[in-house]
Amino acid sequence: MDSPVISRLAPTPSGYLHLGNAFNFLLTALLVDFQDGHLHLRIDDLDEPRVVQSSVEDIFIQLEWLGIDYDSGPSGPDEFFSKFSQRLRMELYHESLELLRKSGHIFACECSRSEIRQISSNGNYPGTCRNKKLNLLKDNQTWRILVPAQTIVSLKIFTNKIEKIDVSREMADFVIKRRDGLPAYQLASIMDDLELGVNLVVRGYDLKSSTGAQLYLAKCLNDSIFPETHFVHHVIQTDDAGDKLSKSKGAHSIQMLREKHRNPTWIYQETAKLLNLPFEEIQTLEDLKEVFRSIMILKGGANSILDHKN
Ligand SMILES: [Zn+2]
Repeated sequence: MDSPVISRLAPTPSGYLHLGNAFNFLLTALLVDFQDGHLHLRIDDLDEPRVVQSSVEDIFIQLEWLGIDYDSGPSGPDEFFSKFSQRLRMELYHESLELLRKSGHIFACECSRSEIRQISSNGNYPGTCRNKKLNLLKDNQTWRILVPAQTIVSLKIFTNKIEKIDVSREMADFVIKRRDGLPAYQLASIMDDLELGVNLVVRGYDLKSSTGAQLYLAKCLNDSIFPETHFVHHVIQTDDAGDKLSKSKGAHSIQMLREKHRNPTWIYQETAKLLNLPFEEIQTLEDLKEVFRSIMILKGGANSILDHKN
């Protein structure tokens, strides 16, 4: 990458952080460190009903325990709620929603989730309200963005490969404004990334479809900067039964793991293992950074440790 790297940690305060979050944070921090970049802490708290003060506190506690330093963002819960909350940025989100509405990209949808599930076996929106021309200004309906058939976006992978995503297939007419009037995740996420100047996004490969959705949104918003963003879609951790770790199952929460393990060494080693790095000698975050750095240099871009093959 030519320009200085700007990336972010973007946890959602909807429960306690788990091992999967720790891996994502550490990998992001490693990549930023490797490139002398800038790391921002962004907390996605739009989903207010699920936002709990204790989840926000948990983010700061666990980041400190993991030893992850960031260059900008809130220093603690108080500063977060008073200066950084997405709730304070509604105007910006609604301005972009208006832009999309005026440019004819939006239609209103009154389908409930269960109605969509009944029609569509894979959960993809079947286009029910596309041509109904429902009044966009009515309450209690979602706004969807029209994704024409065969909408393919290109994305830049960190290792300088280009990948393509068929947004019409993966994220058919996705929601950008929720039934309760709040902007949807996809919209808030890209608006925040644009404002921060983020040019490296590190997320699990299960969120690749979100990457496609956000790149498509950038196109609809006539933005030429976001498409230059580089992406890493990494492997995600599973539990013993092979299921994705989730915040609702407490067993893998960092909070719980701390009771079992005296220090984060174990998490650093687990991270190294997931990246196929030699892990035996790693004790501290500095050790992990050192190993990561040397392998990255050795492998010149290190496709093998970053690219997850589905
Ligand atoms: Zn509908």
